Order: sequence, then structure tokens, then C-alpha cells
Amino acid sequence: MRDEILKLEEQSVALEPSPILRKEWTDSVNQYANDFIDNIETTPAYVISEENGRALLNHDFRESGTAIDDVLKILKENVDSIGLNPASGGHLGYIPGGGIYSTALGDFLAAVTNRYAGIFYGGPGAVRIENQLIRWMNGLIGYPSGSLGNLTSGGSIANLIAIVTARDKKQLRARDVENAVIYLTEQVHHCVQKAIRIAGLNESVIRYIPMDSEYKMSAEALAKQVEIDRGSGLKPFLVVGSAGTTDAGAVDPLDAIADIAEANDMWFHVDAAYGGFFILVESLKEKFKGVERSDSLAIDPHKGLFLSYGLGAVLIKDVKAQFESHYYKASYMQDTLGINEELSPADLSPELTKHFRGLRLWLSLHLFGLEPFRACLEEKYLLCRYFYEEIQKIGFEVGPLPQLSVCMYRYHPKSGDVNEFNLKLVEFVKEDGRVFISSTNLNGVTWLRLAVLSFRTRLKTIDILLEVLKDGVNHLEDKK
Ligand SMILES: *Cc1c(COP(=O)(O)O)cnc(C)c1O
Repeated sequence: MRDEILKLEEQSVALEPSPILRKEWTDSVNQYANDFIDNIETTPAYVISEENGRALLNHDFRESGTAIDDVLKILKENVDSIGLNPASGGHLGYIPGGGIYSTALGDFLAAVTNRYAGIFYGGPGAVRIENQLIRWMNGLIGYPSGSLGNLTSGGSIANLIAIVTARDKKQLRARDVENAVIYLTEQVHHCVQKAIRIAGLNESVIRYIPMDSEYKMSAEALAKQVEIDRGSGLKPFLVVGSAGTTDAGAVDPLDAIADIAEANDMWFHVDAAYGGFFILVESLKEKFKGVERSDSLAIDPHKGLFLSYGLGAVLIKDVKAQFESHYYKASYMQDTLGINEELSPADLSPELTKHFRGLRLWLSLHLFGLEPFRACLEEKYLLCRYFYEEIQKIGFEVGPLPQLSVCMYRYHPKSGDVNEFNLKLVEFVKEDGRVFISSTNLNGVTWLRLAVLSFRTRLKTIDILLEVLKDGVNHLEDKK
């Protein structure tokens, strides 16, 4: 048996590359990454491709390895040169972020050291880092010390953890689901509806509360509806507000919603996945008044702190409730019990083994300090305001005054269908490719959206968009 094992070892040691090979790989990857960043300003935000990376399927996984430069070539041609480029400052659609470089370094270190951030017993330092980051965010929002939460892969899972915690804390058993009422607006992000379904609450009564002209929840209408529901013997249990909706960037009247939630013993959850970090900007703080009165909140560092995809957070005041919804004991985990200087992420989320995703944020905050983040957020807010002014000068209709960094706008052509014209305008911008925008539809009306949140978006980027839109209008009007 020993001989057999030693023979296999000769092959398996290949998984530990020699220092020379490691250097070769790292140098190549570094070169690739540096080329990518050095050329980002002139790389299109969108590339239309016929192939859509289909050639990837021609490369089967083989028994023996392939040289790194050949592998990177496949990646470049079939992945990094087509479709949307989320790293581009020209990405002005959906909700961008960009992906600051320190994210990659944090991930690299987390992957090499493979520290375990799931349980304090195994990775006390890693768990401390994650909980420290969560507490820092709790501080920003104004949650009391003693609150916690979890670092998630993104806002969707963050919202799910909060809703599951709310369900359990309010002691909804299966038989109570039908009579429980959830309050939201039609502008809530669709992952909230998804979370409601996954949490087994789809059969609850779901009330879409009317909004004002700025797409904010009407607190008055909410109060009325809760009263009606209580009167008819239903159990109002959860209200979900948004601090920055995806379509319009609207911040619901959080303070007034908190009053209603408090008076009716409802869980108040805030989806701040997009907008939450704007609270770092002194002049925008006021918009978040009352957010500290919520029970839980979702916030995405991979949006508002410009990290690469893969980091969201849920913040929860009642950590005991969060724990009770998510912990479990298993006999093979018995050694880990009793050591609890810090609560373990594995007891506060559905995950056990997890990526040490906090390291990328910890490294970024330490390397840069907070100042450039605050400035960058304020810059993005003002870029949106600038666009809002300028786009009207070239004849576009605009939606409500942007509260954060999303602006809705549309063009009314001399003749023909307005919605269709605006969708063609999206296509025109995509074909140009320097910048990328997306559209939405509110009550049958097509709006174009500008979402400024890539850290690489500059004044000149917005000027390019204005220029392309103007050209697009002229081109489409001429063609008719
Ligand atoms: C992006 C977003 C989400 C979903 O977050 P992911 O990180 O994409 O999972 C939820 N709510 C709002 C308001 C968002 O902008």
C-alpha cells in the first residue's frame, strides 16, 4: 500500500505548484489584471456579440493541464470582451458599483490563507473581522451596540435572512401564515417578494401600499390599511420599506413607517441594498431619518462601497432572534461549543462553510480610509443631479428630482409611440457601447434610467451619455 500511495503522491503534488510555476501564474494573472484596468477608460461598457462566448464549449476539461496564457486567452475572448462590462465607469444601468481593486487583493489573501470565518472556534480572528465590520455598519445606521447581522453574498440573501428572522420572532406558525399581513410597495426590489416566497409566506396577505408622486410609500395609506386589517382580524406582521428603490432611488418615509410599525407591533425591515451607504454623506443623512428605528436592514457593500460583486450585509437589532432562526447543533461540531467570545456567522445565517468575504472590505477600509468613499458617494449623487438638469435642456421629460443617484427620464418624439421610441434609444446607446443604460416600466410607461454608482463614473462619462442620447434622438427622428 505504501508504494501505491507514494506513486499517487507523485501526481497529486502537482496541486501545489512550485515557487517558479506560482510566480509564472501570478505574473500572468497580474499582467492580465493590470491590462484590464489600464485600458478600462477606453473599453466599451457594452459589446454586442454574435457568439456570446459559445467557443468556451469547445474547450473540454482534459486530463492534463493547459498553459496559463492559453487559459487567459480563452477568458479574455469569451468572457471579458463581450456583453456588459460592470467594471466600466460607463455602466450606468441597473445598479452598478464598479469593483475597487482592493477587493481582489482581499479575496486573493482570503483564498490563499483559506481562513474559516464561519465559527469563532476555528477562525477567531476572521470572525472578529466580520463582526467588527457588521458593527461598524450598525453604527452608521444608528443601531444600538448589541445588534449584529451577517455578511452575505448580496442583498437578496440579506433580505431573506431578515424576513426569516421576522417570521420566527413574530412566532408565525404554518397555520398563522394565511392571516399574517405583509406591507410593501410595488417599488420594492423583486428579491423581497422572492424572499417572502422562499420563507414560506406566499400565502400571507400581501398589501401593496400606494405611493406618492415620488414613488415613496404613503405612510398615511399604510396606517389606514393596517387599521382596516386589524379590524378584520388579520395580523399585521411585517412592513418592508426601501431606502433607495431600484427604479427611482426613492427613500420611503422611514420615520413615519417606524411609528406605525411600533404602534402595531410589526417587524420593520428596510431594504437599503442600493442606497444605504449614502448615509456616509453628511448632506444626505437627513433622508434616512428614522432608519435607526427599523428592526433589520439590508445593505450592499458591492454597490454603495464599490466592492466587486459578492458582498452584502444584513443588520439585525435582535441578535437573539437572528440566532434562534439560524443556529443548529450537530454532534460533529461539539468541540466548537462553549467558545463564544463572538457569535459565529454560521449560527446567524444558513451558511456553514463560507468565503471569508469580510477580508475584502476590512482591507479596503483600512487601505483607503473612509474619506474617499464619502467623497465618491457625494460625487455620484451630484453627477446624477447634473444629469437631471442637463437632460431637460435637450428636451427630455424627467421623473421626480433624484433623491440619491438614480434619475428617470424619457423623450417624447414628434410622432409615433413614446415607449417604443425610448426602447430604441436604449438600443442606440448599447450599439454605441461607450456607456450603458437600462430602462424600466412604471404603470405602462417606459422610462430610461440613469444609475450613477460605479466609482469610475466621472463628469466626462455623463457628458458622453448626454451626447449619445442627443445623437440618438436626432438619428431616430431623422429615420422616421
Ligand atoms: C440590488 C438590490 C437588491 C438585491 O441585491 P443583490 O446584491 O443583487 O442580491 C435588493 N434591493 C435593492 C434595492 C437593490 O438595489
